[in-house]
Amino acid sequence: MPRGVAKTNLPEKTCLTCGRPFTWRKKWERVWDEVKYCSDRCRRERPKRTFKTGQNS
Ligand SMILES: [Zn+2]
Repeated sequence: MPRGVAKTNLPEKTCLTCGRPFTWRKKWERVWDEVKYCSDRCRRERPKRTFKTGQNS
């Protein structure tokens, strides 16, 4: 059982724009649940096709 080696134990998500996995960052610690893109650039360039849930018609 290694000691003091927990740096790589961070949560990961997949960017909805580029499809690449990205790792938790300090600046996201308060909004991690809402983070869906790896960067601001990907957030702007998100796919135009969005599947909105809640509309069932
Ligand atoms: Zn991305």
